[in-house]
Amino acid sequence: RELPGDPRTDILPREVLHACYTKVSPSAEVENPQLVAGSESVAQLLELDPKEFERPDFPLFFSGASPLVGAMPYAQCYGGHQFGMWAGQLGDGRAITLGEIINSKSERWELQLKGAGKTPYSRFADGLAVLRSSIREFLCSEAMHFLGIPTTRALCLVATGKYVTRDMFYDGNPKEEPGAIVCRVAQSFLRFGSYQIHASRGKEDFDIVRALADYAIRHHFPHIENMSKSDSLSFSLGDEDHSVVDLTSNKYAAWIVEIAERTASLVARWQGVGFTHGVLNTDNMSILGLTIDYGPFGFLDAFDPSYTPNTTDLPGRRYCFANQPDIGLWNIAQFASTLSAAKLIDDKESNYAMERYGTKFMDEYQAIMTKKLGLPKYNKQLISKLLNNLAVDKVDYTNFFRLLSNLKADTSIPEGELLVPLKAALLDIGKERKEAWISWVQSYIHELASSGISDEERKVSMDSVNPKYVLRNYLCQSAIDVAEQGDFSEVQRLLKIMERPYDEQPGMEKYARLPPAWAYRPGVCMLSCSS
Ligand code: AMP
Ligand code: MG
Ligand code: MG
Repeated sequence: RELPGDPRTDILPREVLHACYTKVSPSAEVENPQLVAGSESVAQLLELDPKEFERPDFPLFFSGASPLVGAMPYAQCYGGHQFGMWAGQLGDGRAITLGEIINSKSERWELQLKGAGKTPYSRFADGLAVLRSSIREFLCSEAMHFLGIPTTRALCLVATGKYVTRDMFYDGNPKEEPGAIVCRVAQSFLRFGSYQIHASRGKEDFDIVRALADYAIRHHFPHIENMSKSDSLSFSLGDEDHSVVDLTSNKYAAWIVEIAERTASLVARWQGVGFTHGVLNTDNMSILGLTIDYGPFGFLDAFDPSYTPNTTDLPGRRYCFANQPDIGLWNIAQFASTLSAAKLIDDKESNYAMERYGTKFMDEYQAIMTKKLGLPKYNKQLISKLLNNLAVDKVDYTNFFRLLSNLKADTSIPEGELLVPLKAALLDIGKERKEAWISWVQSYIHELASSGISDEERKVSMDSVNPKYVLRNYLCQSAIDVAEQGDFSEVQRLLKIMERPYDEQPGMEKYARLPPAWAYRPGVCMLSCSS
């Protein structure tokens, strides 16, 4: 449904009723825009020759300054729950979709410029993005993909050559920062909030919820569309309720169950690598189960379940590392109530989707942790004791697991030598804590020894799930500091390193180091929702 008026110039902030999107063209000002970095891997997806990155007019296209032939730019309307409260219409306030490319494998890829100027959804803000946050989004999109975690991707990052005003620390001292635009790429950017907004507007918009669900199912869940009665997809609800949810009789029920499971699996993978998203509002929850919207995210350095990288999330810590699995469920519950309100699913189907979230999360999380430890089977006690030890001693999460594969499954190793392979991760533990660690390593080795898997085989398997390199916030910050001076080489180097997180990469060890002292200084590496 198109809006009246001139859709290309009408960017007045407003409530956009009865529509899923508004046509709007990129309008960010540029002055000699420059390519900061490009992802060859994403270029490949789009069947774009990476040599195109070098074209002098490339930054013009990917800053939105020159229109792409065949593009039909628009911004999406969506709403969301922010920090647990319904926030009404949000929408693409600074993202503009250029269009979709269907590659030779018939894959559909949507290209979206983030920071390309105002839209009707910009509310009180400027529609722009700064280089600092754009570098973070560009690098982390690609880092997550190469860690094996579903995510939106990033084709390229362009510096606009213009400055943007930001009050970084809300101290009333606005600062001029270089502007930038990321080209994000995903099969779809639809979010839970894309459905919530229409259901929230009442009965007359329920048909929009249905149409948008039909659209998503047809394009992105074709197996559900093609599902036939002959597939046996019925499930028992368990002891108290003997009723059965037949997913073949209602495609919307099958759809939300799949979304719940994809979300559960996504969150389990975040927990596995120590990733904290930072703003798990329902408008940042992809219906495809992708990590979406890289703002104040952070990888754990020292293990701390209550870690939140987002200063806006203090003191409540709603979005802290350990809360992510529960928040995923809370968000699915909101999405389920949207589909229920629009009469697409009933209460039983809604409860069933939530139940499946829980089951899927536990299955995947247990499998991931079992593999991280190289165990023959899941061992709850061993894993929770380890996590407890890591938290008590604030041990670096990434480096600890990477070192763990060097232990030998040999029960005759003398006590005094047991911690030697882990020394680099346990440098700071006090004498009084040594015993706890020795005792844990003893039970661990005992478990390994009974598995019959060779040390070499286990090491290969563990190193394939325990990354050596993750995009720690201080690494981003170092790349940002030099990029703001016009030197983009560190962004490009980080991209290359993060494309092979599980490889040793001799010579690059310094990128696996703990944060240096400067990273802990007040104001440094501080992140908030709005940047
Ligand atoms: P987030 O917390 O990053 O998910 O953003 C919440 C909402 O604010 C989304 O609708 C964004 O599009 C919008 N937003 C964030 N930053 C800006 C900006 N600089 N200009 C316009 N809209 C913005
Ligand atoms: Mg967002
Ligand atoms: Mg954001």
